[in-house]
Amino acid sequence: MSFVRVIDTFSAIQGEGHLIGTPSHFVRFAGCNLNCTWCDTVYARTLTGGDKLQTGLIAEGLWSIMLSKGIRHFVFTGGEPLFHPDAISEIVEEFWSRTDYPTPQAHFTIETNGTFLPKQVVKYIGLWSISPKLRNADVSYPWWKFERMVEALRLHGVGPSQVQFKLVVDSLDDLRQPDIKSFLKATRPYHRSRVPLILQPNGNLWRKNRQAYLDLMTKLAQGAIKKHALSRNFDIQVLPQLHVLLNVDPKREEEAI
Ligand code: SF4
Repeated sequence: MSFVRVIDTFSAIQGEGHLIGTPSHFVRFAGCNLNCTWCDTVYARTLTGGDKLQTGLIAEGLWSIMLSKGIRHFVFTGGEPLFHPDAISEIVEEFWSRTDYPTPQAHFTIETNGTFLPKQVVKYIGLWSISPKLRNADVSYPWWKFERMVEALRLHGVGPSQVQFKLVVDSLDDLRQPDIKSFLKATRPYHRSRVPLILQPNGNLWRKNRQAYLDLMTKLAQGAIKKHALSRNFDIQVLPQLHVLLNVDPKREEEAI
C-alpha cells in the first residue's frame, strides 16, 4: 500500500451531474494541472497540500462509511484525481477485497478535467464525469489531451452509461465559441448514444447575483429544447450546483477518516 495526498474526505449529497442529490462520500485529492479562474477548490490545487494517507486506510474508511451510513456512492475528486491513478487503483482494489460483506453495490465516480489518460483506473470506475474547460475558465485548455482521453475510454470499452460530460458556463456566448467545435470533435465516439451533457451555470454567479444565475438557467433550459449540434449528439441536462444553492460547504462536513 502506498501513500497519497488527500485534502479532505466528507459525506454530502452529490451536488453536480446526473447523480445530483445522491448521498455520496467524497475523497478530494491534492494537485491540479490547470488554474481555472473560477475554481472553487483553489485549496486543492497544489500537490503538496493536505495530508499523506495510506491507501489501505482510505479504503477502510470508505468501507466503514458504507456499513455505518449506508452510503454506496463514492466520488474521487480534486484538484485533479488522475494525478494519482495508482493510489486510486489501490483504494478500489482494497475496498473490493473485503468480500465478507454480502454483495456490496458500491459505485465509484471520478470527476476529472479530462486532460489525463485513464490508465489502469478505468476498470474500477462506474461513472466518468469529465469537465473540459471553456474560454470562461481563462486557461489554455489542451483539447488534444481531452480528445486522447475520450478515445482511450472508448478503446477500454467504457460504455455511454459510464460517461457524462459537464460544461460550466457563464453566458450563452460560451456555447457559441470555437471551443464547442473542439468539444464536439473530441467527443465523437460518444455521440448519439444518450450520454448526458450537463450544462451548469458557474456557481460564482449565484454567489454574486442570484437573479442573473436564474436567468442564465432559464436561457439554458430554453436553448436545451431546441435542435442544435449539442442537443443532436447528447442528452442535455441543465443543472445547478445543488451544494452551492444549499450553501453546503464540504469543509464543514463531518470528517470521516
Ligand atoms: S480543473 Fe478543477 S480543480 Fe483544477 S483549477 Fe480547474 S476547477 Fe480547479
